[in-house]
Amino acid sequence: MNLPRVRLYNTFSRTKQDLEPVSDGMVRIYSCGPTVYRYVHVGNLRTFMLPDLLRRSLEYLGYQTEQVMNITDVGHLTDDSFDRGEDKMLVSARLEKKSPEEIAAYYADAFMEDIRKMNIRASDAYPRATEYVPRMIELIETLLEKRHAYEVDGTVYYDIASFPAYGSLSRNATEKLMAGTRGEPDPRKRHPGDFTLWKAAGSNRVQVWPSPWGPGFPGWHIECSAMSMAILGDRFDIHTGGADNVFPHHEAEIAQSEAVTGHRVVSLWMHGGLLMLSGARMAKSAGNFFRVTELEEQGFDPLAFRYLALQARYRSPLNFSTRGLGGADNALRQLRENVAEWSSQRGDEDVAAADDWDSRFRAAIADDLDLPSAMALVAELGRSPVAASTKAGLLESWDRVLGLDLGRSPAKRTLPPGAAELMAQREQARAARDFARSDQLRDALRSLGVEVSDQPLKK
Ligand code: AMP
Ligand code: ZN
Repeated sequence: MNLPRVRLYNTFSRTKQDLEPVSDGMVRIYSCGPTVYRYVHVGNLRTFMLPDLLRRSLEYLGYQTEQVMNITDVGHLTDDSFDRGEDKMLVSARLEKKSPEEIAAYYADAFMEDIRKMNIRASDAYPRATEYVPRMIELIETLLEKRHAYEVDGTVYYDIASFPAYGSLSRNATEKLMAGTRGEPDPRKRHPGDFTLWKAAGSNRVQVWPSPWGPGFPGWHIECSAMSMAILGDRFDIHTGGADNVFPHHEAEIAQSEAVTGHRVVSLWMHGGLLMLSGARMAKSAGNFFRVTELEEQGFDPLAFRYLALQARYRSPLNFSTRGLGGADNALRQLRENVAEWSSQRGDEDVAAADDWDSRFRAAIADDLDLPSAMALVAELGRSPVAASTKAGLLESWDRVLGLDLGRSPAKRTLPPGAAELMAQREQARAARDFARSDQLRDALRSLGVEVSDQPLKK
């Protein structure tokens, strides 16, 4: 099949590589999904946008895609870097006085609603970890047989010394892994860097399964080995996640899947850059985050966040601020107005010019999803002397990749002009605890017909 060349950055090789799908023309993708113990924030959503943009771009270029995104509903510990702590699902269940199943159902629904708001296309499958426990047990049995794992008192650990390539993805040398383990090492581990495949239930009676090693529950990393290979087979094209998944999660996944199969399973590892808030990583656990619904309540179009994210390379960290979001919201609204205006003007399409612009767009997305260049092209096209109907036609088609709802009637604007700017100023005044100024700005917003409600200030 004659498909265009696509270059993608592979975290494993640290280079851009040609995409060479296992099956001709069909790209199969596994994406690490949410742990459904809390609402997702816009940082998580930035990571979930990566496979969405990847699929939209590949399909625009003529490839077919299939995507699987897991839902983690067991096994993700509060301190996953150091393989200890309590299961996040159980912590939320206790705090909210609900069962882990209720917690999972509620937050998985909220997640689906949030990705819909962001125009993130649904994955083809959303396997849940709790549905794949027998498959995880099989993998752990194979790892024990092949002497990549050992059992102590009903808990099974992966023996990282048995897998010489351990550390290749994250470029962590085993000695560094040792040095990096904080606090009291678990005395049952042969090596402090060994990670848990199966954890004995202990006194825990919730979310426990029978196993050859007694009752217990799976570790977080084995879930993704089990679900990815169960659904996509033992050779697939692309695995995505956030930059913080590189170590330990994906390093462990490679060690598990490759030790079981004896060969490379994933061709390309793609990781999205983190979203930062005031210099720190936006994180559910630290409480410094925004939900997309909060941004919406403040009057922003959820797709303004999508617009903002498209301005940065997917691999770069991105700073989030409501001021930046306000700018994106304005720019998006303006672009929709322009598209409406161009669409209303009749005229002949300039086919040669359209082909030329489109091939530049295709070249940008085929170069490791260079969406900032694609967005620069959108701006350049707007300023160019190309016929209005050609502009409208191109933007309608590029929107299949951008997902910005550019054809949406601008009459449905969510904020009156100037309001986003006032909101950004008010956010700053509040952060500086200048409440007099913040009240003035609230009145100014009210006069524009915008009511603001405040979340408590975060420390
Ligand atoms: P979690 O629900 O905590 O497992 O996270 C879901 C996904 O969001 C993971 O793939 C993380 O890598 C990603 N993620 C978490 N925090 C951020 C952030 N601040 N920016 C971008 N992605 C993030
Ligand atoms: Zn995963």
